[in-house]
Amino acid sequence: MPYSLFQDDFAEIAEKETRTVIILQKSQFDLPPAHYSLLEMFCDEPGCDCRRVMFYVVSSRNNKSVAVVCYGWENRDFYAKWLHDDDPSMIDELRGPVLNLSSPQSKLAPAILEMIEEVVLPDQTYVERVKHHYTMLREKIDGKRLSRKEAIKRRKRRALARSRKK
Ligand SMILES: [Zn+2]
Repeated sequence: MPYSLFQDDFAEIAEKETRTVIILQKSQFDLPPAHYSLLEMFCDEPGCDCRRVMFYVVSSRNNKSVAVVCYGWENRDFYAKWLHDDDPSMIDELRGPVLNLSSPQSKLAPAILEMIEEVVLPDQTYVERVKHHYTMLREKIDGKRLSRKEAIKRRKRRALARSRKK
């Protein structure tokens, strides 16, 4: 699954809508005080609809990635169907939230994951925003989905063309 940064395609929106969590000196999380920006990455494989985000978390202390966290917002059935497999551990891996296995993680990564689980994901408004970003990127890759009416019209046109050939 190739991934691309939302900000590469939608720089202006990303600038306004990227979430940054500010951790102060004394927080409930075992993290040094900093601004942690959650850069969103989405799969950009044509025709894929995996409905997941990868948070590439960058710390303001060194501008480096401190963790990469995967999160899928659909239910387990969705990922089981998508995967054609109902292996629970594979579904957990897809759906998360979980530290992405194939990305480098820093020693802060477990605390970042905890912060995302407890502060970021319970914020339904924010999760909706991420889903919207996903849809924007999908539309850019796959083209706008045809409306029902338009799809039927095309189908009819094709059927007509076929019948003429006979
Ligand atoms: Zn995908």
